[in-house]
Amino acid sequence: MPRKITPPKPAAATEAGAPKSGASKSGASKSGASKSGASKSGASKSGAPKSGAPKSAATKPGASTSGPAKSTASASAMAAGHAPVSPAVKAGAGGGKAGTKAGAAKGAAKGAAKGATRPALSGKRKQVAPPPSPAPRRNKAVANAAAAAHGKTLARTLTAWSEEEIAEAFTRFEAQDPEPKGELNHTDAFTLLVAVVLSAQATDTGVNKATHGLFAAASTPAAMVTLGEEEVARHIRTLGLYRGKAKNVVELSRLLLERHAGVVPRDRAALEALPGVGRKTANVVLNIAFGVPTIAVDTHLFRVANRTGLAPGPTPLAVELGLEARIPDRFKLHAHHWLILHGRYICKATRPECGRCIIADLCRWPEKRF
Ligand code: SF4
Repeated sequence: MPRKITPPKPAAATEAGAPKSGASKSGASKSGASKSGASKSGASKSGAPKSGAPKSAATKPGASTSGPAKSTASASAMAAGHAPVSPAVKAGAGGGKAGTKAGAAKGAAKGAAKGATRPALSGKRKQVAPPPSPAPRRNKAVANAAAAAHGKTLARTLTAWSEEEIAEAFTRFEAQDPEPKGELNHTDAFTLLVAVVLSAQATDTGVNKATHGLFAAASTPAAMVTLGEEEVARHIRTLGLYRGKAKNVVELSRLLLERHAGVVPRDRAALEALPGVGRKTANVVLNIAFGVPTIAVDTHLFRVANRTGLAPGPTPLAVELGLEARIPDRFKLHAHHWLILHGRYICKATRPECGRCIIADLCRWPEKRF
């Protein structure tokens, strides 16, 4: 089919890029979907740029009704805080479902197609689409955003867990795994600290592979400083951001020698003053190395707390404080391990195994899979 050439319209061509203008022009945003859910997420975000195929993604109505794209759209809307979970899912699908009913999807597709082809036809490069992110990472991010949005809804609708329910959940976790352990290999507080610093945006398995050789070469602050940044980087080059991490590991080792006689401090502020050490890392070190009942909120724990409704919160800090306030003291030391392991192996981002979940009857997630 020859493509009809439509002269560019000034507002659409100069404002927000092709897919967005196309979708908003179509009226998809008026057809039952929220503005952010349909015009932004449905077309410009989940559609063209992320798929890496702007034209096809933007022009096919199916792109907005298919699983990942639908989730991306809805989660984007939810993450933006415009709608609670269920309505947002519908709204995200609105580019497809609601839009199909109202005849808006067709208009959205046409509008998006026009918008998507305009830059090429005019010969001008209006915007450069960002490079597509890897699909698995995007899907996990979508799932985590949906969990966060669900937590937001629960916080508003007063369906918080009762004290009895929380105690029951942790009694079950304890019965199942009385002494939960972290999965980062370490021999003392220093190697634990280094391993946790290296674990940012990396799996524990990947970190363990990297630290196997690193700790054989240097397992004390003095030895790490002697080893130097280049050698540390060589050992951990399989990890993302390894150059920055190598720099942090050597510098934090130097500062431990300079400020703490080479000993890892049992103090949150002192830990957080080290390069590469944030609140989560400090909490992990305090909990595992020193037995302080802290709760380190990583991506798994953040998702589980929001998805289940145990301690919904928009940020890791809000979730951490919520858990601290609700979990009975007798469970606090191991609480973060139980929840992290639960999120890693059962309540997974994209495929939660609700059939194997020991707290399924307590969980508030409306999309349980059995
Ligand atoms: S029932 Fe499903 S969603 Fe809820 S905590 Fe268990 S695995 Fe997660």
